[in-house]
Amino acid sequence: MKNFSNYKDYSLKQDLHIESKVVHGALGCEPLTGAVSMPIFQSATFRHPELGNSTGFDYSRLENPTRQELERTMAILEGGIKGFAFSSGQAANMAVFSLLDVGDHVVMSDDIYGGTSRIINDIFGKYGITHTCVDMSDLEAVKAAITPKTKMLFVETPTNPCMKVADIRAVSDIARAIGALTVVDNTFLTPYFQQPLNLGADIVTHSSTKYLGGHNDTISGIVVIKDDEDIVSKVRVHIKSHGSQLSPMDSWLVLRGIKTLAVRMDKHNENALKVANWLRTQPKVKKVYYVGFSDHRDYEITKKQTTGFGGMISFAVDSFETVKKILKNVDLVMFAESLGGTETLITYPTTQTHEDTPKEMKEALGIDECFLRLSVGIENADDIIADLERAINS
Ligand SMILES: *Cc1c(COP(=O)(O)O)cnc(C)c1O
Repeated sequence: MKNFSNYKDYSLKQDLHIESKVVHGALGCEPLTGAVSMPIFQSATFRHPELGNSTGFDYSRLENPTRQELERTMAILEGGIKGFAFSSGQAANMAVFSLLDVGDHVVMSDDIYGGTSRIINDIFGKYGITHTCVDMSDLEAVKAAITPKTKMLFVETPTNPCMKVADIRAVSDIARAIGALTVVDNTFLTPYFQQPLNLGADIVTHSSTKYLGGHNDTISGIVVIKDDEDIVSKVRVHIKSHGSQLSPMDSWLVLRGIKTLAVRMDKHNENALKVANWLRTQPKVKKVYYVGFSDHRDYEITKKQTTGFGGMISFAVDSFETVKKILKNVDLVMFAESLGGTETLITYPTTQTHEDTPKEMKEALGIDECFLRLSVGIENADDIIADLERAINS
């Protein structure tokens, strides 16, 4: 039996499959007491035995045992050297964009989470950091957007909400050739289905509010760095200075969520496939955006770089009247912002998640008043379909 007696000897569990890694994390249990569930170390500070001697924990803004287990677990799952857990996905992405210097340029997905768009436009824009939004599934467009100042390619794949897929390996190759970093927001698929660091990316970010936490009960974010110690120390200074670290209680909730990641993702995947196929048969549904369709434009890339399609579907209906009817009449399916939890949620991106996305961009992407996004939960798929059917045709 392995017997960790302190917090320093944790296992990378490289020989295990991901279903086992998610359950067993880094230490797997608390080393001093053997507690099978890593306790919530609700302590602000830690006592020192003597001058120059520390348990490895000093002050919880810097390091906390519960958060450390989550950070190490995420580094193991994504295949990086270091994970950081933040108070939200926004805080995680803020840390990543803070790696840039005045005058730097970012190329990012045009169809991206609205909050990420807000960070780069409203916060970093005023520090002289410029950006170009492109369709990242179009590699020629990515190359054309690069300038001598480009230092980062920020990719969301599949995109939110139009479900476009970027070839992570090809984008990373383009970035490496110009000495820029590739960052992938892996919120939609999680390391269970997609591992960007193994495909060439340098940094992965997450809103762990979504699938990693998985239960719609906490807001949190993750950053994992592949192999660059310099980036690790910069992010450490950022989190330490901004105080945007995740609390022990929320770290524990995300850790607990991750234990069931594999079974939940499989169920989300299975249900979404059924719901997407059903949506396509509905006369009032004009278009379904789902990466699991074999006629999806980027299906070959999806098959090449992921092991599942995830639980996200967007769709356009015939009229704004139908939108209103659906949102008023859904019952089991809840009209609420967010995604990735056990419950099926329906969202109206135009005024919710993508409220701050520039109007011209929303129009170009087709995110209009007839557009809806579905995060398919882990209920029985027939119940989800029956509820949508009633709401659409009520
Ligand atoms: C929700 C979300 C975020 C922001 O995360 P929060 O936890 O809400 O701060 C970033 N990226 C994606 C893809 C998201 O879905």
